[in-house]
Amino acid sequence: MGKIPQETIDRILDQLDIVEVVAEYIQLKKAGRNFKACCPFHNEKTPSFMVSPDKQIYHCFGCDAGGNVIGFVMKYENMGFPEAVETLAAKAGVELPRYDKRDEGESSLTARLYEINTIAAGYYQDNLGSGKGKGALEYLERRGLNADTLAQFRIGYATAEWEGLQKYCAARNIPAEILRKAGLSVQSEKGKGDYDRFRKRIIFPIFNERGNIVAFGARVMDDIGPKYINSPETVIYSKSSVLYGLNFSRRAMREKGHAFIVEGYMDVIIPFQNGITNIVAASGTALTPRQAAMLKKYADTAVMVFDSDQAGEAASLRGLDILIDNDVNVRVAALPPGEDPDSFVKKHGARGFEDIADKAKDLFDYKLDLLTQKFGGEKIRDKAAIAGEMLPTISRVKNAIVKSAYLKKLAERLGVNESALRDEMKKVKNDYSYRAVPETTDAPAPWNYVSSEIHLLGLVISDKDMFETMRTELGLHMFRDENIKKVMGVIEGIRVGDDTVSPGKVLSRLEGDERAKAAVIRAVAKADITEDGERVFRDCMACMRKENRKEELKTLTHMLKQAEKDRNDPEIRELLMKINRIYKEKTA
Ligand SMILES: [Zn+2]
Repeated sequence: MGKIPQETIDRILDQLDIVEVVAEYIQLKKAGRNFKACCPFHNEKTPSFMVSPDKQIYHCFGCDAGGNVIGFVMKYENMGFPEAVETLAAKAGVELPRYDKRDEGESSLTARLYEINTIAAGYYQDNLGSGKGKGALEYLERRGLNADTLAQFRIGYATAEWEGLQKYCAARNIPAEILRKAGLSVQSEKGKGDYDRFRKRIIFPIFNERGNIVAFGARVMDDIGPKYINSPETVIYSKSSVLYGLNFSRRAMREKGHAFIVEGYMDVIIPFQNGITNIVAASGTALTPRQAAMLKKYADTAVMVFDSDQAGEAASLRGLDILIDNDVNVRVAALPPGEDPDSFVKKHGARGFEDIADKAKDLFDYKLDLLTQKFGGEKIRDKAAIAGEMLPTISRVKNAIVKSAYLKKLAERLGVNESALRDEMKKVKNDYSYRAVPETTDAPAPWNYVSSEIHLLGLVISDKDMFETMRTELGLHMFRDENIKKVMGVIEGIRVGDDTVSPGKVLSRLEGDERAKAAVIRAVAKADITEDGERVFRDCMACMRKENRKEELKTLTHMLKQAEKDRNDPEIRELLMKINRIYKEKTA
């Protein structure tokens, strides 16, 4: 997407009320002129997240997150700026200017691949709905999928034809090359042209976090050929960075704070249909660091749902350490023998499924029980083996208190000295070549602003008269903080054009400048708790004048010293005059 004109962004901001938009994501309670809630961006029990309808911004006093409605959607949905604007434009009923896709190289290919996948999904869906997919439809109905679920997950069917999708796309002027790039067709070795990758299979579109179709999984109904084949890796699809079902489940994951992790598509879809809406699958054997980081954005706890034959394997637990690296609490739920998530939820309903989450054991306990069963734990060698499996997991726990409690428990269970375990753990840690690095850190920036300047900014930002008074009596050049000066310039710019300035609008003009944006949020939050605005306004201006005088005196005194050294009499005279004038101002 090309650069979106500021005018369009302003129109979107004018049309939307941040309170209404935020309320679509989290529950807001009225608190005076503002609305409050528990912050969706950090863990808390008492609300410190505020949304201001007057100022059109949100701010959290706990984690210092803050911004306008675009910033909120970006942060909540993990979207980039253009995508957030696009989303909000649709809500606001504002049309975005068209842009030329061909100009944009890589990003345009991405967009084309999403588009092609959507078209392909539609084709497969049509097949399923028509007589061609009768057998597949019957199979899916037998598995218990209803029509809504089929539509929501966009499940379809690839016929036995070699060129079915290709002909469909050719009729729509879609070049064969783009189908190949999407992994939907395969180039024939004999050079006889391409053929469809998926034939005679049930098709499960694979969505990314935001609901774009990035790939397909295809399942046979008979037992001919591999049970599943998947799209190859493409520009938009990397197997290790997709969690199947995340686009549907992320909201409930955020609300509930935990996510069920299962293995296959049906393990997600059938529980989802039955009311388990916080469930994802890591389509692959082990979770990757990227998947773990994605999960952590929405839930602090992962409940691994294992069927009984997986459950007995310590090896499958080793892969879970990746979650601990990402500070996710891991719990393990083992299903009764012979059950999988699909059959279990059908038998016990959502309630029964949620119960297994409640009963799920902490990874530490689960692993320790399993190892004790396996090794017995009587002989010294067994104890060492158990410790050898447990310590790598414990060493990855970030919380020092939890870590210490685990060590203590392990020492008790094994009947060994805790300090011996501690020593062993040091060795483990040194051996770890790999540690996942979180993608982003949410720590508030340690930025400091001059108090009087930041306070003044908060007061004048949406008050036209105060801004004018400040501009004429003090002048924008008096701000020493470059960021605040920049924000003041932005306010002045908006004032020249039209007269409504909201912090939300100001923020939209500071996109990409985190420090200036943070100044706005800080300023508005400060002004919010100011009682006597008019008096504080005067005090701040006085304070700034004083500060400026002090700075100026410092500079002049320095220059004077230099002039005396140089014996430059005219210069000395002039500097002394200036210094005197400042002293007079001070006492005036
Ligand atoms: Zn917060």
